[in-house]
Amino acid sequence: MKEPFFPPRLAECYRELEKIAVPETGVSLDATAVAAWEKRSPLLACAPPVIDPEVFVALAGQVFETLARYLPEMARDLEKLRLSLPDDNADRNSLIGALLSRDEKAVTFLKPGHGLPLDVFGFAFSHVLRILLAAYSRRLRSKVGFDLWDRGDCPVCGSKPNFSRIDPGGRRYLYCGLCSTQWRFVRAACPFCGTTDPDELSFYPFENGAYRVYVCARCKGYVKTIDERRTGENHADLFWEDIKTVSLDISALRLGFANRL
Ligand SMILES: [Zn+2]
Ligand SMILES: [Zn+2]
Repeated sequence: MKEPFFPPRLAECYRELEKIAVPETGVSLDATAVAAWEKRSPLLACAPPVIDPEVFVALAGQVFETLARYLPEMARDLEKLRLSLPDDNADRNSLIGALLSRDEKAVTFLKPGHGLPLDVFGFAFSHVLRILLAAYSRRLRSKVGFDLWDRGDCPVCGSKPNFSRIDPGGRRYLYCGLCSTQWRFVRAACPFCGTTDPDELSFYPFENGAYRVYVCARCKGYVKTIDERRTGENHADLFWEDIKTVSLDISALRLGFANRL
């Protein structure tokens, strides 16, 4: 495989972001709603996390500060964003709700007067959201099983998978890059359009088969995959595998396939 060209400074920054811990009390579950989950729609829609607004503001500050350290060209805009975080818990809750449902109105809950850097807004809050959703997914994992969820979209947040792994026993798990959830999925099916037609599904092996890019001729989607039967590991860190394998994305795009995220 060609050397990945993911910028080292950004990789370092992501490593620091990974270290940011969400306190136990920061993200909690609505136990009744979780227990009532019928595995028809993602948990985020029927049992959204309860996020402490104070923890949210502290976390956003930490994320913005980390981003500013590694991406100084954004520092001024990140500071404006920090100053625009709402003081009032009701506004903070509205902002959290809008971010979770990816509602464009999110920006309207920020305090005016500091100048809103809209292009940095999406980037900066995507990291806050990712960290919160990963904490939510971790809490859920001890409470619910995803065994009967046989869909290609994420059982926690509803996003499309951006990576998958074949475990040493040959089982395939899809991975959601937004909330870090993994769930079992059939080997021979497209997670995007659901086809199981063998004439439409194939894969390209890379690195002596350690990686595969599964492609679908019907919807032109692709998923990068690590084959743990070849790499000898179990539970590879798919967040880093995704970053490390940018060259596979390039190959898939050149072959005419597209991200279906
Ligand atoms: Zn997800
Ligand atoms: Zn498809």
